[in-house]
Amino acid sequence: MNIILLGPPGAGKGTQAERLVDARGMVQLSTGDMLREAKKSGTEMGNRVAEVMARGELVTDEIVIGLIEEKLTGENGGGFIFDGFPRTLAQADALGALMAKTGKTLDAVIELKVDDAVLVDRIVGRAEQARAAGQPVRADDNAESLKQRLMEYYKKTAPLLGYYYAKGDLKSVNGLGAIDEVAVEISAVLKNL
Ligand code: AMP
Repeated sequence: MNIILLGPPGAGKGTQAERLVDARGMVQLSTGDMLREAKKSGTEMGNRVAEVMARGELVTDEIVIGLIEEKLTGENGGGFIFDGFPRTLAQADALGALMAKTGKTLDAVIELKVDDAVLVDRIVGRAEQARAAGQPVRADDNAESLKQRLMEYYKKTAPLLGYYYAKGDLKSVNGLGAIDEVAVEISAVLKNL
């Protein structure tokens, strides 16, 4: 089973993806994690995108599509969870083509529905928690980048809701509950596929 987790920054995509990895042996493909990893290991591409990410803007379609393409041929256990990808219509089209080429199907697109005030609180809270625990704070978890990330979401990513709805793939769950409650809702969706 291959699924996309779709929702604005702070909706809980990464958290729920980790749950699915543990519960179902699925493989999480987070382009955000891949880009942060590239930055940490100091690759040329990582350095090139670091500032774009810190500003809260999207990196180019070409880069993230390339990252995903590399992973699609790898081991996929219980299936792939696309987390933070696709984020533009061009990425969604590219994913469709890559899946077809590698003989895979997309089984569902799960939207985590949340409201904006909650997102801001969650992201600010995530930065504060990391700071208190002496852990590194994401360079883009600050008020200015957050505004930009939300704007990018509404301008470029939110149209994917309509795109996948029209394809008949969209399932929405309430992302406002506790982590366990959201996980139960997602399980219910997956059981009914
Ligand atoms: P995330 O960890 O998913 O919140 O992503 C962090 C940042 O990485 C985003 O704000 C973008 O700058 C970049 N990024 C991650 N995934 C994508 C994507 N699919 N397309 C473009 N930029 C991305």
